[in-house]
Amino acid sequence: MSELGVMKILMVSPECAPFAKVGGLADMVSSLSLEMSAAKNDVRIFMPMYSSIKRDEGFELAIPTLSVHMGFGIEEFCSVWKRKHGNATVYFLEFNKFYGRKGIYNEGQDSYLDNDARFAFMCRASLDFCVAMNWIPDIVHCHDWTAGLIPIYLNTVFRDSVLGKSSSVFTIHNLQHQGIFNEHLLDYAGLPRYEIFHAKNCEAMGALNIVKGAIYNSTKITTVSPSYAKEIQTPEYGYGLDDVLRFKASDMVGILNGIDTNEWNPRFDKFAVAQYSISDMGGKLVNKGELQKRFGLKKSEKTPIFAVISRLYEQKGLDMLENIIDPLFENMDIQIVLLGAGERWLEESFERKLHKHKGKLGVYIGYNNELSHLIEAGADFFVMPSRFEPCGLNQMYSMAYGTVPIVRATGGLKDTVENYDEVGKAGTGFVFKDANASALYNTIGWACSTWYDRRDDYLMLQKNAMKKDFSWKKSSKKYMELYEWAKESRH
Ligand code: ADP
Repeated sequence: MSELGVMKILMVSPECAPFAKVGGLADMVSSLSLEMSAAKNDVRIFMPMYSSIKRDEGFELAIPTLSVHMGFGIEEFCSVWKRKHGNATVYFLEFNKFYGRKGIYNEGQDSYLDNDARFAFMCRASLDFCVAMNWIPDIVHCHDWTAGLIPIYLNTVFRDSVLGKSSSVFTIHNLQHQGIFNEHLLDYAGLPRYEIFHAKNCEAMGALNIVKGAIYNSTKITTVSPSYAKEIQTPEYGYGLDDVLRFKASDMVGILNGIDTNEWNPRFDKFAVAQYSISDMGGKLVNKGELQKRFGLKKSEKTPIFAVISRLYEQKGLDMLENIIDPLFENMDIQIVLLGAGERWLEESFERKLHKHKGKLGVYIGYNNELSHLIEAGADFFVMPSRFEPCGLNQMYSMAYGTVPIVRATGGLKDTVENYDEVGKAGTGFVFKDANASALYNTIGWACSTWYDRRDDYLMLQKNAMKKDFSWKKSSKKYMELYEWAKESRH
């Protein structure tokens, strides 16, 4: 360990809340950095300066001219801004050619066509930044494919540099996105293509696979839940990389994400209309009334509200919910609210259902953080039928808000929600195994009958869920151990 037990940790990520967020990755990078820096580590986050980031008075120019060295002898000049984030510091790479755009990865339905170059550039710039600052991290923590070239840089062009001893930790937030591109990206990145473009490094099926390269080259690998670490070693969940992951299994651990308990706490939630706690649940009903009003649902305390807040992609399994909406409303007295954005066909299918189920179904297509808090505070159940789920945050937010989760037994959902045990009177939610619409239908039915017929059991599940501790305390300790392990392993 470094002097006084303090580690120097560089987080490299395309997202960090509250500055730029698409999904749970942003929450994780933010919360983990806050925790690690509160524990006296020197934590610096490196990310692009997208034009959507609001530069408040906290922003300062850190490096007016950073030169970034790409392949073909290309040298680009950028600025780096900084801003405090708790005890951590976020460094924003300003390079408008790549990041002076509204989106992080895409605008509308289309990904930016130069994402390969944009994120290769971010990787190289993060290391040139360390050298320019004369700040040598013990750990470079790389998040998802976008930061995946860093472990390769550290093992090649930076091996004999001042960064040669820096360990890399690569976190897989979602194995579905692997950064598969033409191998010539390596030339632009200034990486030795002839040395590394082969099956035991970053080549897969004739193309460059950044995640594969990161798995081979990083000192340690993590996933965001223990179950997901196991699942991705199987062909079913491995997206073609299960063999590589099995090969590197002894260097991989799954550490569950925590949640930010300041941001997601029904006792202080500023976006809810009434605050509440496990000992005084009155406010939840007030939020329920407000939620029904906002979504134009029939005002009714006794009708349970089932909620969804999600990206609308195949992974999340919400096509299964869309499939059963009609029979659900025909056979059960329930309401459903959905907040989400993603694939256009799914957005449109939910919107179409609106007309058919007026007063029972509420749909908001888009991204809305405030509304997501009100939904957690006002709903009675939360539905997450994911086909796979590396960790998932909303099931944990839901439990904190006494909004009983209904989840599929996969990844982080399996690790955080305990199935309702009707006989033993235990559990924190409803868990089902099969990824199909009828399993989801039956489980919603089971939840609905619990609400109406076994009221005490519903209240028990709600209380059990609210008592769970999903704060970062435990997980950040595990990351600290992992960083120590990574540091010892790098020679
Ligand atoms: P993923 O990262 O796969 O999207 P997670 O459950 O880990 O899934 O994290 C999703 C995060 O994004 C949560 O904080 C959730 O509240 C938020 N979120 C997703 N969709 C929306 C939306 N449409 N509006 C507001 N917040 C959203």
